[in-house]
Amino acid sequence: MIKRIALLLLLSIGSAQAEPLPVLTRDGLQALTLAQTSIALHSVSGANNQTVDVAELYRKTLIKGGFPADWITVTRLNDTAYMVLRWPGQEQELKPLVISGHMDVVAASPSNWTRDPFTPIVENGYLYGRGASDMKMSNALAITALIHLRHEGFKPKRDIVLALSGDEETAMKTGQILADMFPDAREVLNLDVGGGTLDEATGQPLFYSWSGAEKTYADIGLMVTDPGGHASEPRTRNAITILAKALLTIQAHPFRPELNALTRSYFLNAARFTSPKLASAMRVFAASPDNAQAVAVLRATPSLVGATGTTCVVTMIKGGHALNALPQHAAANINCRIFPGHSRSDIIHELTAIIDDPSIHIEDHSQGSVETQPSPLSGPLPTAVTRAAQQAYPNIPVFPTMSSGASDSMWFREKGVPSYGASPIFMKASDDFSHGLNERVPLSTITPGLHFMLSLVTDLSQN
Ligand SMILES: [Zn+2]
Repeated sequence: MIKRIALLLLLSIGSAQAEPLPVLTRDGLQALTLAQTSIALHSVSGANNQTVDVAELYRKTLIKGGFPADWITVTRLNDTAYMVLRWPGQEQELKPLVISGHMDVVAASPSNWTRDPFTPIVENGYLYGRGASDMKMSNALAITALIHLRHEGFKPKRDIVLALSGDEETAMKTGQILADMFPDAREVLNLDVGGGTLDEATGQPLFYSWSGAEKTYADIGLMVTDPGGHASEPRTRNAITILAKALLTIQAHPFRPELNALTRSYFLNAARFTSPKLASAMRVFAASPDNAQAVAVLRATPSLVGATGTTCVVTMIKGGHALNALPQHAAANINCRIFPGHSRSDIIHELTAIIDDPSIHIEDHSQGSVETQPSPLSGPLPTAVTRAAQQAYPNIPVFPTMSSGASDSMWFREKGVPSYGASPIFMKASDDFSHGLNERVPLSTITPGLHFMLSLVTDLSQN
């Protein structure tokens, strides 16, 4: 049982506040400060990458918080780094709990932002900055919860491993290395995925959803070549129009509607929290995924289309070489998010069949992505995550979902380690600007997020 944090301190930052600031505990302030300090570090792939400095900040914070220095390693890889804390458990025969996250962030161009992306700013009840929601606040909450447990004299039964990657947003190599280090983990708790949703109007908790699977990422290249010629002598065959026809065919192609245990659960549960029209489509689809009307409604909803099956969309094109010449080449990238149960080659075959033009060369360009199967719907984590979310907000409905994006979980799932996305962030859907402009996280997530982490880490390391 977790001891609730008792010492309350009033947070006072800034002056003109539109919303009352939450009262934060000493732990809450520590998490906020750590999140702010880490946001100020430019942990973006490429020149001036400060991911190793984020790792050093975390390492020093953990040591100051009572962890022996030799339990922590920071390893550099090219311009980035990964960090591991291994807190030994009392029973060495038990498999470790791995808590997974990443320290890097997506690039951000200051000229496009209202506030400088690498200057953490607390305003109107939010912490603004690149990485605020993806995922430096989550890292700060996890580290603060671990320090809290250490201070309390907590003794885990199984090893607790905090494994933070340094290139999740780009090459994803360090996540693969971390999965190679812990193939014996009982489960992975990935703080980068899932989370709590707050009501748009009232800010009250609506539901918590954790992720038990993700779609497979694929980049598929289409290429047309042609001898070309003088633009004053056009022919029926033109590399660009051949490619354009194929792109329209892909756009119009209805990939088979599909359902699995995770998406069925999501549609049935989340239907309670949406508009009547969408709710009805979600319930109908959960019962019969072949219902064309329900499929049409869900596929017209960007946040839900990914849960209805494989999607493929053109993301880049290039072609031609001179204003006055028939094009000698035209190429496009098709980005697919493949429903679990199908391989990348299955989808390439499907695209080849619908395009039905042997003059178009089709090739798998995917890098750093593996095909994975859903993790079990029942087990220690699904049980513990329900309890943890309800420690944060009593009676909040908790249910599983499937992620449409790719995360470090795929490397662990590939090794057969059950991996679950269960972020400690509770926010409104409209506040989610991950990867986008003016990223922010509400300060109101700090206290429930800490209770969530304390409950989850205690449960999973003891049971
Ligand atoms: Zn992330």
